[in-house]
Amino acid sequence: MRTRKRFGQNFLHDQNLICKIADTINPQSDQHVLEIGPGHGALTRLLVASDCHLDVIEIDRDLAAELRLTIPQLNVIEADILDFDFTQLPTDQRLRVVGNLPYNISTPLIFKLFENLDNIQDMHFMLQLEVVNRIIADPSTPDYGRLSVMSQYYCQADKLFAVPPDAFVPRPKVTSAIVRLLPKESREEATDLKLFEKIVAQAFSMRRKTIRNSLKGFIDDSDFLALDLDQKSRAENLTLQNYIDIANYSTKQAS
Ligand code: SAM
Repeated sequence: MRTRKRFGQNFLHDQNLICKIADTINPQSDQHVLEIGPGHGALTRLLVASDCHLDVIEIDRDLAAELRLTIPQLNVIEADILDFDFTQLPTDQRLRVVGNLPYNISTPLIFKLFENLDNIQDMHFMLQLEVVNRIIADPSTPDYGRLSVMSQYYCQADKLFAVPPDAFVPRPKVTSAIVRLLPKESREEATDLKLFEKIVAQAFSMRRKTIRNSLKGFIDDSDFLALDLDQKSRAENLTLQNYIDIANYSTKQAS
């Protein structure tokens, strides 16, 4: 089987596992599913069998051509998901987004999907276990970082099960896992989303520094008391709520 490394191609071949993933997604005939990176169609065939409305986006032109031949009823969009405009898809229903994601683009893709959550019902992804652990990490743990804060701001995130390297061809070096991301129906809002994102990014770009140093320019020494924060805290010690509070406090101070 030819594989293109630059497209992060590790194809699923363990049929029991493919069935387990499809059962977990459990697509219904009245739902609209978007599969990212269908490859040779391992999971795609089971999604088609559920009779849901299915669109797939594949960057590899040879694989896209193969899918059009082998699954003629499938709507294959040949595109780079990172450039894809989600508004091109019918918006009568919110999407269920699924995929065994190319690991090299998984984090930028997840951030792009966060910008399109109004159109998304839920997401099920195969990712490197390490990335899943970062998504679900709690404060004051080594895996906690920008990806944890931003994922937990937008979604309820659950690690469902791990997938060993042997389930793929070619065999990756690392263990993978399935994560479910469920957009929060109601959430504590950052009034200025861009500012919130900037504060989280800046704090974790200097994660060894205290937030007193890393967030200079956003909060002054006198603000720590109002925010009930310890000046000696580092980025990893702050909860999602702390980051929202800092952003909203800064917005209020600026207005
Ligand atoms: N779903 C298949 C499976 O489980 O066997 C293939 C998974 S493989 C890890 C990732 C797939 O995503 C490949 O088919 C690859 O060509 C495709 N891909 C990689 N980068 C992509 C991108 N930017 N946009 C869309 N598809 C991409």
